[in-house]
Amino acid sequence: MPMVDNSNAPPDESADRYWKLRPAGPTPDVEMCRCASVGALSLRDSFGKNPLFCLVCNAEIAPERIGFDAQLAEDIAFWLNIRHALKMLWLDSGEYEQWAARRLGDPNGSVNVKGRRISKRLNQKVRTYYWWFSDFSVDGYEPPNRCPLCGGDVVQTARECVVVCDACSIAMQQ
Ligand SMILES: [Zn+2]
Ligand SMILES: [Zn+2]
Repeated sequence: MPMVDNSNAPPDESADRYWKLRPAGPTPDVEMCRCASVGALSLRDSFGKNPLFCLVCNAEIAPERIGFDAQLAEDIAFWLNIRHALKMLWLDSGEYEQWAARRLGDPNGSVNVKGRRISKRLNQKVRTYYWWFSDFSVDGYEPPNRCPLCGGDVVQTARECVVVCDACSIAMQQ
């Protein structure tokens, strides 16, 4: 069973046993980036509606802090739905898991090609890295020390657990 991120859970789940069946509220302030300026961001599918995250503090960045047009907002939302659908197929261990993991890990797969295109557009505003899928569920998983796209060395960021390939604009969990 792949790791499940429960970061969107309210502080006290027992307060409302049906919280997963209700519309999600806004991201709590404490989970929003409070860096004075946005230095670099990652395009990353968490469980929320907004896939823009600060590469420095790892918190969510409100889209208006970047600023882009409605078409890019639409394209980001559409990509995120597809990315999220694949992630759910992967998390639903069983029939779809391995197929979905291959789609998510394929550098030439549609979801990654489209995601990297969106990253490039965002990169015109703020340095943007595309968050690469890591399949922690495989036996003998080892943190990546090479870029999955170019095979080059990855570089440690200010965050200990995050590495990047600058040439390919990829970020990965270490
Ligand atoms: Zn930040
Ligand atoms: Zn690379």
